[in-house]
Amino acid sequence: ILCQFHELRQKHEINSGILLGATDAIITIDENHTIVGYNYGAEKIFGYPRREALGQDLKIIIPPPHKEVHLDYVRRYVATRQSRVIGKHLQLTAQRRDGTEFPMSISFSVAEIQGNLYFTGIVRDISEYKEMEDRMLASERLAAIGNTVAHITHEIKNPLLIIGGFARQLQKIAGLDDKSRRKLTIIAEGVARLEALMAEMKDFTRPPETRKIWGNLDPVLDEALEFFQETFREHHIQVRQTKEGPLPPANFDPKQPRRVLLNLFKNALEAMPRGGELTITSRVKDGNLEVSVADTGEGMAPDVAANIFQPYFTTKEKGTGLGLAICQFIVEKQHGGCINVDSAPGKGSTFSIQIPLEEGAPT
Ligand code: ADP
Ligand code: MG
Repeated sequence: ILCQFHELRQKHEINSGILLGATDAIITIDENHTIVGYNYGAEKIFGYPRREALGQDLKIIIPPPHKEVHLDYVRRYVATRQSRVIGKHLQLTAQRRDGTEFPMSISFSVAEIQGNLYFTGIVRDISEYKEMEDRMLASERLAAIGNTVAHITHEIKNPLLIIGGFARQLQKIAGLDDKSRRKLTIIAEGVARLEALMAEMKDFTRPPETRKIWGNLDPVLDEALEFFQETFREHHIQVRQTKEGPLPPANFDPKQPRRVLLNLFKNALEAMPRGGELTITSRVKDGNLEVSVADTGEGMAPDVAANIFQPYFTTKEKGTGLGLAICQFIVEKQHGGCINVDSAPGKGSTFSIQIPLEEGAPT
């Protein structure tokens, strides 16, 4: 008998060790909605230590809309033994100890032990997965926009050329009164603005295949800076460049980083109408090539910063809202990197680009 007892105890210890140590959160409640099982995975995901969570109402991890009704679900199950969730995987929102909410995937099971019901949820934090899914949706949307835009630009280009050409011709006619001349100027300006917009939109319609080669980003950086040098000087913008050693070769399409940099420089310029400082830093960090572009301009409020990579999002009277969407497309979709912003109103903005340094680089 002692032997059997030992064996049982060993089995029990193995089982509870497995449950406790699992990376998924495993939480068990009794019929009264009280937490009676809570593993280390749950500590990590929800932030409550075990001794604090055990004995508490499950409410602590359920966010507001369901907080108060969840107990009713449990009661109903106890009464009817019917449930739409048991045995299924669901995606729900949970709440951490610090109040933040996150998406989780959860599966429920129920067990009857000595006449009492115990409900167990196995929870996985899927924030990262969700984020990836959102990004993929965004890039699909971008591709769809690209198709539409290709059509529209094609249709608009020729009439636009004609309107602009005639407006310029008419402007040259002698003896025009001021009013007519003004109107023609407005037409010509309108056309120029539309042409610029078409040119920017064309970036979306380029085929997604990029021509990547092994190369060095330094000359691309220098060239983009040179392109803006004169403009920066005119606008009293001091440029500072920090290079932490020479950059290793990376695999990229040489035309694309240039486009990204030019967009970032243009935005920086527009954010500093009364001059300021532009700091460009390039270095290797955590296996990535990192280039950051920091300005001392007006900065952005969080609700602006959250939307700047959306196509057509702009806060400028004459903005297209496409610059950063294109940057994101190039960096993330075409080069598997990422682009981020750090900004606060009045504090300036820092955009940083990371491009992974793949293996197999020629040395
Ligand atoms: P656009 O420049 O045509 O508005 P972008 O996609 O380039 O489109 O930028 C979107 C928005 O992001 C801008 O309208 C602006 O509000 C914000 N933004 C971008 N860069 C900066 C910057 N360096 N400083 C402050 N705000 C910026
Ligand atoms: Mg822009």
